[in-house]
Amino acid sequence: MKNEKLVMIPGPTPVVPSIQREMGRKTAAFKDPDFVRDFKEVLADLKSLWQTKGEVFVVPGSGTLAMEMAVSNLIKTGEKVLLVTHGYFGDRFGEICERKGYDYDILQSEWGSIVDPARIEEALAKNDYRAVLVTHVDTSTGVKAPVEEIGEIIGSASDTLYIVDGVCATAAEREYVDPMNIDILLTGSQKAFGVPPGLAIVWAGPRAMERRKELGQIREYYVDFDKWLPIMHDPGKYFATPAVNLVWALQESLRIIKDEGLEARFTRHRQDARIIQDTLLEMGFGLLAEKHCRAVTLSNVLYPEGIDDEEFREKLVEEGVVVAGGLGEYAGKLFRLGHMGNIDQHIIISTLAAIARTLKRCGFAGEPGKALNKYFQ
Ligand SMILES: *Cc1c(COP(=O)(O)O)cnc(C)c1O
Repeated sequence: MKNEKLVMIPGPTPVVPSIQREMGRKTAAFKDPDFVRDFKEVLADLKSLWQTKGEVFVVPGSGTLAMEMAVSNLIKTGEKVLLVTHGYFGDRFGEICERKGYDYDILQSEWGSIVDPARIEEALAKNDYRAVLVTHVDTSTGVKAPVEEIGEIIGSASDTLYIVDGVCATAAEREYVDPMNIDILLTGSQKAFGVPPGLAIVWAGPRAMERRKELGQIREYYVDFDKWLPIMHDPGKYFATPAVNLVWALQESLRIIKDEGLEARFTRHRQDARIIQDTLLEMGFGLLAEKHCRAVTLSNVLYPEGIDDEEFREKLVEEGVVVAGGLGEYAGKLFRLGHMGNIDQHIIISTLAAIARTLKRCGFAGEPGKALNKYFQ
């Protein structure tokens, strides 16, 4: 019998049966009173859990659409932006800035480390930026930015807006909108929410909504806050068809989050990440992200000498676990292991055991299975 595939990539993450069931429900009309009530509840929960007095937008699309939505509603062509990048997805924000014609400065780190917040402070002191763009967890490096500290540096009084890409962080890494001076937080449904791909989620704090008003009509149509706001206030109205079943799936994900408690969910991710990352190091792997800035949502795992990436990942699939390859210059040198969302101890132990078996099958000389002994003590 073939092993069932555990999808342990950094999104889509494992979808638990109760969420999967929502996808299979008979699709309702978007004006159906039951659906309107459910959508309202989803929006209210998102605002209260992530603590904003502003707005939240849930629209059909992926994380990249959410990135485009965030900047399009706050920043005009020609305005100055500070981009802090820790890898591939930070660089994607750079590409978007380029297309939008922003005048942007880049602060970047070596892959595996972060930009020293003192450099951000310096740049802010010297220039008038409309916005600072930061990726909370860059999925290409497994590095976590000090989002709260950067929020304190920017402050709530300045004219500089703070946009955080939380696509690989939100609902797993500690994050609150208004209390951390974040003006826009954005994510996609398929990462730490454990919902299938297809929803873009964008929180916009009070300052972001004020800024949107100042801009008047913008060029973009589908991502315009002004087009979606009436629907977010009354989901019975129409602008573009909501992803009905995905909204239900998100509702079930939020039920799970409320049941667990958001802070408890952050703690669980921290604890799980520590065990997973310690075990991988003990097995003989390395980790790309430095310890002080290591994400809890995924690990970027460097191979020991002599292990071939393609062979390893192929054999790992036979053992029942799918992971992702490295990006950029780390293609072939590491694999990316997601461990965010609704994953439990069964999934974690099965994944680690499959990794240990695969390492042995690839001819590794050590005893990686011994790193699992801690589970039996
Ligand atoms: C996955 C990811 C994205 C892109 O999201 P898509 O849903 O693939 O468009 C953007 N930023 C980060 C940090 C991500 O991890």
